[in-house]
Amino acid sequence: MFDGIFLKNYLKNKGVSKVGYTAINAEDFPQYNFAISLVMKLPKECIRAIIDEDYKYYWMRFHREADRLKEIAIDAEKLIKNNGYDAFALTLQRNGFDMDKLLSKIPYKTVATSSGLGWIGRSALFVCEEYGSAVVLSSVLTNMPLEIGTPITDSLCDDCEECQKACPVDAVNPRKWNSRLSREDIIDIEACSQYVMDQYKAGLGCSKCLSNCKLTQKYYHSL
Ligand code: SF4
Ligand code: SF4
Repeated sequence: MFDGIFLKNYLKNKGVSKVGYTAINAEDFPQYNFAISLVMKLPKECIRAIIDEDYKYYWMRFHREADRLKEIAIDAEKLIKNNGYDAFALTLQRNGFDMDKLLSKIPYKTVATSSGLGWIGRSALFVCEEYGSAVVLSSVLTNMPLEIGTPITDSLCDDCEECQKACPVDAVNPRKWNSRLSREDIIDIEACSQYVMDQYKAGLGCSKCLSNCKLTQKYYHSL
């Protein structure tokens, strides 16, 4: 039977680490009332590369994983359509990603927290218990009825401040995330993006908040 459980198993067999469902009501995509959140762990070599400041390798692997997840999202779109529903793989290009504001029409992070797969860290990155922030995200929109998860609306970061301490430009605010706050309440996004852009132009990067997240570290050191 083609249902949400079948779809979850299909996506996990393709290599997606966590899958969740949420209801949506998006102005830009009125024909879809459900969103599927896809969370794929980054290989540990990616975390190693950030620690070693080997950003050339990090970006190569990051983009490879992001491309892989995009292909899986497109496969899911086809599968859902073949089973009589409408679907739309929300790739970065289709999600109207604004490079200046670093914002999309439907942020993947919002779909993931609303599906109950994790929360937003002090770093403003998506965080989950199993992989910390060492993940890539994507989404698929659909009108296929799905049993939705319980949204996470408050940070589970407790008293941890590791990402804040790791930021070289002090962009991470001490305030913990909740879904009522805006991104600017928890991070100085201009300071972060300016630094990351400068680093990128020099063939480097940052992502120290990702690699230093205590939950990323827990995943990195797990067997
Ligand atoms: S990417 Fe770098 S500059 Fe931006 S918040 Fe994380 S640690 Fe700070
Ligand atoms: S380092 Fe700590 S405070 Fe920062 S996102 Fe990870 S768990 Fe949250």
